[in-house]
This record gives sequence, structure tokens and C-alpha cells, in this order.
Amino acid sequence: MWTSAGQVADLGMLLARTDPDVPKHQGISYFALDMHQPGIEVRPLKEMTGRALFNEVFITDARATADAVIGGLNNGWAVANTTLAYERSGLGAGGGSAAGGAATPGTVAGDLERRAGDFVRGGSQRRPAGPGAMLGASEKVLTELARANGMIADPTVRQDLVRLHVLNQIARFMNLRQKALRSTGGDIPGLGNMAKLSMSEILRLSRDLGLRILGPYGTLHAYSPDERKRLEEATRMPMAAMVTELALFTQGPSIYGGTDEIQHNILGERVLGLPKEPSNDRSTPFKDLARNR
Ligand SMILES: Cc1cc2nc3c(=O)[nH]c(=O)nc-3n(C[C@H](O)[C@H](O)[C@H](O)COP(=O)(O)OP(=O)(O)OC[C@H]3O[C@@H](n4cnc5c(N)ncnc54)[C@H](O)[C@@H]3O)c2cc1C
Repeated sequence: MWTSAGQVADLGMLLARTDPDVPKHQGISYFALDMHQPGIEVRPLKEMTGRALFNEVFITDARATADAVIGGLNNGWAVANTTLAYERSGLGAGGGSAAGGAATPGTVAGDLERRAGDFVRGGSQRRPAGPGAMLGASEKVLTELARANGMIADPTVRQDLVRLHVLNQIARFMNLRQKALRSTGGDIPGLGNMAKLSMSEILRLSRDLGLRILGPYGTLHAYSPDERKRLEEATRMPMAAMVTELALFTQGPSIYGGTDEIQHNILGERVLGLPKEPSNDRSTPFKDLARNR
């Protein structure tokens, strides 16, 4: 369930329980799974934005070979934490959604055959902007929209536009700081988690502010490029569809890559050293944990 970009993947990340006799975090292995083999069925799921960025993936008698284990047998939790930390700081740095970038990696989407220039602004192969595009641009788009429909005179709208600007600047500086530190071998514990939390906050503010600026037009959404064109003509708001798309998409990012609550828990427990949540998970063999049979 929820496999972002599964429909265009050559390889999947498969976390499988390989030892039920040890506590649950210790008995998982991380495999690179060949997605082009019999027994892998990918079913795209349509989201309320109208796009299908993620999928259900059914795995029936498929094979993951021993030489495809990454990071050693039963060490998958550590590897997963590394890939999750990478995903979180990437999202916080404006990466948006795992499947939302301009160019799609892998052989399925066919982007490897194209030139890099095709994916930059104005390139001939550029796809219609998705929610990912709006992530970094919301401040500019919303300011232009508010100017165009007169909402810019509303002091509460101005205040929230400035708040959005400040949050975006802080996120940008956090990202630069992390990059500078990484280049000298340093790190700030928890910065990736904070970056992801701040992205969720920026998105929620962009959604609420965007819908206020759009007013009743915010209830209209375009599900195809054709509808988008007609909506923009009817409302005379060229960016209306981008705003409603962002508003419908905003619920996702504070869930994927670990929910906001989980980021808070990680910061509390691993960075601030607060007491861990009470649990027997860490000492009891996985097979002895209470669960649905
Ligand atoms: C758009 C989208 C794309 C996704 N793409 C992928 C993908 O590509 N690959 C992948 O593996 N997964 C993907 N996911 C799944 C995602 O990682 C999980 O949905 C997410 O980690 C939350 O887990 P869950 O759904 O099991 O929620 P649960 O863990 O059941 O959480 C339910 C609620 O309880 C809260 N909660 C849970 N535990 C605690 C706790 N200890 N303390 C406080 N609150 C808690 C949560 O914050 C949440 O509000 C995607 C999800 C979405 C929405």
C-alpha cells in the first residue's frame, strides 16, 4: 500500500522480516526488489487531486535474492532509518513528493533518453506542474494571486503572506546550514525531522491562505489539463488550479515519510533525550508480541 512511484520503479525497497526470534527492530532485512518480474503487480491509486502518484503493490511468489540484501542480514531497520532520514531532509529542502519531480528516474518513464534541458522551465518535454512544483513557489504564486484579485489589501492576508515568507526563509537557511555542515563532515541531529515538520507547516499555511485568497473559486478543481484550462479561463485566475491542487495534496506530506507526531517523538527521544514511550517492543522477540493472528 502507498508505494509512491511504484508504477515507474525498476527497483523497489523491500523490508522483510527475516528473523522473528529477535526484537522487532533487529529482525528485518532490506532488499532491492526487481519490480520487473512475475509476481509483482502494481495498481495505481487515484488521489483526490486527480493524479496517481502512489500505488498498491501486490507481491505473489516473487523473488528477492540474497545478493540483493542492502546493509547486511537483519540490519534493515538501520538502513531504513538512513533512507528515511534522506527522504525527510529532501522533503524539507523543497523536494516535495517522492513522485513529483520534473524528471522521473528509471527506465519505465523514458526520461533517461531525454536531455536535461528538457526538464527546466520552458523545456519542450516539461510535464504540467504537479503539487511538487507549487511547494517551492507557493509564496510567489499566492502573492500574485492576491494582487490580481485585490485580496492583497486585506491586512490578514498580507500578514500570512509575510509569515509564509519567513517560514520559507527559515527552511532555506536550515537547508543551507545543513549542507554547509555536511560538506565539512558535521551534522545537526534532528535537522531533517525539523525540516520535514516545517514543510508540513508551510504547506498547511499555503493551503489555508490560498483558499482564502481564492474565495468561493476554491471549491472548483480541475482534474485534467483540459479542465484546468477551462477553469482558468472561467475564473480569470491562471493559478487557481495550482492552489486547489496544493490544497488537496497538503494532507499527504504530513503523513508520508513518517507523520508529524512521529517526527516530534524522534526529536523528543533521540535529540532532546526525553524518556522513551513505554513499550516492551525493544526487548521481546517479534514472534511473542501481541498482534492480530
Ligand atoms: C501520499 C502518501 C505516500 C506514501 N508513500 C509511501 C511510500 O512510497 N513507501 C512507503 O513505505 N510508505 C508510503 N506511505 C506510507 C506512510 O509512510 C505511512 O502512511 C506513514 O508512515 C504513517 O503510518 P501509518 O499509515 O501506518 O499510520 P499509523 O502509524 O497507524 O498512525 C495513525 C495515526 O496515529 C499517530 N501515531 C502513530 N504512532 C504514534 C506514536 N507513537 N505517537 C504519537 N502518535 C502516533 C500518527 O501520527 C497518525 O496520526 C505513503 C503515505 C502517503 C499518505
